[in-house]
Amino acid sequence: MRITIDREACIGSGLCALIAPAVFDQNDDDGLVELLDEGPLTDPVGTVKDAVQRCPAAALGSHPD
Ligand code: SF4
Repeated sequence: MRITIDREACIGSGLCALIAPAVFDQNDDDGLVELLDEGPLTDPVGTVKDAVQRCPAAALGSHPD
């Protein structure tokens, strides 16, 4: 699985970093999402998919390899 982020769509809610902190973080300056682990994933795949689905701005994507 490969993860993508859209920083232009992100509204900085921080939910992704809360759910899957090994994969997502928030930029110290603007609060927008940062991708820490594009894959292979250090958080369980289900957790990462949950973060992707719960993003309120639909700024995250998960793609099969
Ligand atoms: S959950 Fe979505 S809107 Fe919130 S910080 Fe992550 S990418 Fe941005």
